[in-house]
Amino acid sequence: MLALIFAVLFVALPVWAWMGAAAAASVALFMVSLSALVLIWKTQRLELWLSQTDLHSHLPWSGVWSEIALRIQRLLRLREKQAADAEQRLQYFLQAIQASPSGVTLLDAQGRIEWCNATASGHLGLDARRDLKQHIVHLVRDPVFSKYFSMATHEEEVVIDGRTGSLAKARKLSLQLHTYGQGQQLLLSRDITSVTMAEAMRRDFVANVSHEIRTPLTVLGGFVETLQSIPLGADEQQRYLSLMAVQADRMQNLVADLLTLSQLEGSLPAGLHQQVDLPELMDRLAADAAALSSVLSVMEVEAPVPVHQLVFEPSPEWALLGVRSELLSAMSNLVSNAIRYTPAGGSVHVGWQRTADWASFFVTDSGPGIAPEHLPRLSERFYRVDRSRSRETGGTGLGLAIAKHVAQRHGGELRIESRLGQGSTFQLVLPASRIVPIAS
Ligand code: ADP
Repeated sequence: MLALIFAVLFVALPVWAWMGAAAAASVALFMVSLSALVLIWKTQRLELWLSQTDLHSHLPWSGVWSEIALRIQRLLRLREKQAADAEQRLQYFLQAIQASPSGVTLLDAQGRIEWCNATASGHLGLDARRDLKQHIVHLVRDPVFSKYFSMATHEEEVVIDGRTGSLAKARKLSLQLHTYGQGQQLLLSRDITSVTMAEAMRRDFVANVSHEIRTPLTVLGGFVETLQSIPLGADEQQRYLSLMAVQADRMQNLVADLLTLSQLEGSLPAGLHQQVDLPELMDRLAADAAALSSVLSVMEVEAPVPVHQLVFEPSPEWALLGVRSELLSAMSNLVSNAIRYTPAGGSVHVGWQRTADWASFFVTDSGPGIAPEHLPRLSERFYRVDRSRSRETGGTGLGLAIAKHVAQRHGGELRIESRLGQGSTFQLVLPASRIVPIAS
């Protein structure tokens, strides 16, 4: 501006002295107008340059205009970087929320959906794009949730039924609202199906154990009372005492099986360092099987000889890598079940089969067989098909649960094939990597 005033004076003063005041004023006016035009032109070019998308292109000026443009450019670059940093931080933040195992839904002050992560979509059946700005109560159609949403405070969580893929498997969801900002709300959702199921299983288990123990205890109590109150002869007393011993045995078996199960659940899976020689194990199983069959035959036909045709195939010369007590318990449960559930005169066939990947211990019986609807639940604790036969023969209802656990802990599985009226085959299938030649 100062330069313009000096330039005007420098030209206008000589013109004034030479040609008069009017001419000097005209020249001054002309020069000011010209400068204004140049200024307007440059400003427009600057505006044009600023309006292009790529400001990093070469500057078309020099001098003070270039300085202005450069400063603007620097300022814009700084803003761009700040915006990019903020965007990246937001993306990291959203990615972290996406990775959360809990469902997160952000609601505005009116309860309309602003954002939700994939877990919340799965839990509540929301579509992160389609359902944007929809009211949450219109989408989570559950009276319990609607009532919870309308409450003034949400200190507690609420449990609702989740959307379920299959009718058999109802999901349970826990939801809690947290207020933040200016009335916005954060809706957290958790799938608590497994927790609820575990809780229900624990309750069932305690009820089952109490029931299993109560029956022999009641019987024992009754006998004790009889012995205390009625004078009995020696023979009669003996009979009562042996009946009491049966009930005590029953409770002992139950406690032993419960301990085995809890040890299986609480310890690490079976390692590969222990070698269990099969021939010795199979001999022991065969001897126990013959003894059990004799005991049952006394009960059934009052003859102290095995009433079953027991066929034990010659044992392979292998050793199993696993835990001896667990393997023995699982195998003897399968053999004793076959003997206990096969009526007198039936047959039980025991042996080993091998493929490239698996080695399986099989027990086939000619017993009553099991209807298909029971098969999926057979290895559940205390699940019984023939309840009275199980009780009569000292069953605890835990034998197959133990066998299944042992198989899984050794990297294998329990397979059951059975047809009603045609007998059953139970197999303890173990990976071939657990079979080694017997060390000499
Ligand atoms: P339990 O102690 O009652 O025998 P298990 O867990 O060993 O309990 O077996 C569960 C149920 O499976 C038994 O009560 C019985 O009804 C059925 N079961 C098991 N093995 C056989 C078999 N070999 N033949 C027929 N039914 C069987």
